[in-house]
Amino acid sequence: MITGGSRGIGRAICLKLASMDYAVLINYSTNVESAIETQKLITDTGGMAELLPFDVSDPKSVDAALEQWCSNHPEEYISVLVNNAGIRRDALMIFMQNEQWTDVINTDLNSFFYVTRRLLKDMLIHRYGRIINIGSLSGLRGLGGQTNYSAAKAAMIGATKALAQEVASRKVTVNVVAPGFISTNMTKDLDEKNLQETVPMKRFGKPEEVAALVGFLASDDAAYITGEVISINGGLS
Ligand code: NAP
Repeated sequence: MITGGSRGIGRAICLKLASMDYAVLINYSTNVESAIETQKLITDTGGMAELLPFDVSDPKSVDAALEQWCSNHPEEYISVLVNNAGIRRDALMIFMQNEQWTDVINTDLNSFFYVTRRLLKDMLIHRYGRIINIGSLSGLRGLGGQTNYSAAKAAMIGATKALAQEVASRKVTVNVVAPGFISTNMTKDLDEKNLQETVPMKRFGKPEEVAALVGFLASDDAAYITGEVISINGGLS
């Protein structure tokens, strides 16, 4: 399952995991058209994909959707979880409103707790699981105008490292992928031409490049990697 799989990095991850023969659950919030497009891109090439809409920031919505899915699929479990859904609500802290702070913390951090705790039990019972959290360079070094976002992404790193220790003996790995600037809707309001000059590789990354790293972490080749933060940022640090 990929949260926020309708667009951007999440869509690329859905396509990557489908190409690795996973049946993909595409979560999204409101953008049903984009989610259907992601599903079609997978099914047109012979893959399996199901839509699973819910609001990751709302524990009731998460619980209702996942309980329903589990009762409809009693013989299956979700073995790979990519916590990707996220938003930005940038403002200098002196101007930041309560909603800008809480919306980002709820969507980018609390969602990790709401979704992961629901799926963890089955991973532990089956003694196999992959949890891949999409962090950000902003959570590693902090970025002005993003105290909310940097806080959420940094806290996710702490939670990842703690959870990795709790579940390692059951062959469940938990890691963070921390992208720099990636060309998606989330970054379309930024001045790409100027910002890319700050990147040693002089360009923004592509969603497919992030998806390739997530695919590796989901694979058996990454079985001994857990509790790690892996950056993908063209050399920007
Ligand atoms: P994006 O293009 O804006 O897509 C955001 C995705 O998250 C959409 O699928 C959206 O669903 C979903 N989403 C948002 N709020 C949700 C909610 N409450 N419940 C369920 N789904 C929700 O963003 P992106 O650039 O691909 O970013 C994906 C992740 O990468 C985020 O965690 C972001 O913080 C991280 N990241 C991005 C960059 C970058 O440069 N782009 C850099 C570092 C980290 P709908 O389509 O239904 O709205």
